[in-house]
Amino acid sequence: MPLIAAPPTPGLPPNAALLLDLDGTLLDIAATPDSVVVPPDLPRSLRALRAMLGDAVAVVTGRPVEQIDALLPGVPYAVAGEHGGAIRHAPGGALERANLPAPPDAWRAQAERVAAGYSGVMIEEKARGFVLHYRAMPEIGPVLRQAMLSIMADPNRDPDDAPFELMRAHMAWEVKPRGADKGLAVRHIMSRAPFTGRTPIYVGDDVTDEDGIRVARTAGGEGYRVQEVFGDPAGVRAWLARLAEGNGR
Ligand SMILES: [Mg+2]
Repeated sequence: MPLIAAPPTPGLPPNAALLLDLDGTLLDIAATPDSVVVPPDLPRSLRALRAMLGDAVAVVTGRPVEQIDALLPGVPYAVAGEHGGAIRHAPGGALERANLPAPPDAWRAQAERVAAGYSGVMIEEKARGFVLHYRAMPEIGPVLRQAMLSIMADPNRDPDDAPFELMRAHMAWEVKPRGADKGLAVRHIMSRAPFTGRTPIYVGDDVTDEDGIRVARTAGGEGYRVQEVFGDPAGVRAWLARLAEGNGR
């Protein structure tokens, strides 16, 4: 029998707070955002961890908060959606929105015309922007990027100083206002009870998670990249299940 040890996974520091990305971290990436599957052990683990960690479990995602409510009803204590553009600090609390502009409607209309040229491209609406998903046609990522950059181009403005940016995500390009990112989300969540004073442990799989990882580490916590530490979302879920059973320390 080959001796293959399970890769070592980290324990939790005393007084940890968990801040977890959703797609590609807690859930396997699916062909479309609507077709993800929530394995039944996941809500169980997260609820047990909330009980262990004084409720300090948050989901930090690019999706709107309502989608987290639909996928994981009543599970995380705090939810940050839209990459920090909308945060609900407690169950049943108000949704706090960063005061950010929405991109011009004309951009979306132009993006729809671009998307209509490809069977594998779909547009996802957000309150402050939209996303072009191309998982079904990975090869056209660079073409879509160029098309979006020319739609968004403003000859009168330095691109670094524009109010909107084109953000790379997993097989997707997102048009979003500058100023909201997952680092901001982590800072805001950690500033309120029951998270304040705890050690932030952030887990994410994507370029958009780098800001969350950096802020968690700067605050004395840890940031884990799924691929480096757990391999894949199943590895993250197995880790959470072990922690929830009290076997992770
Ligand atoms: Mg992700």
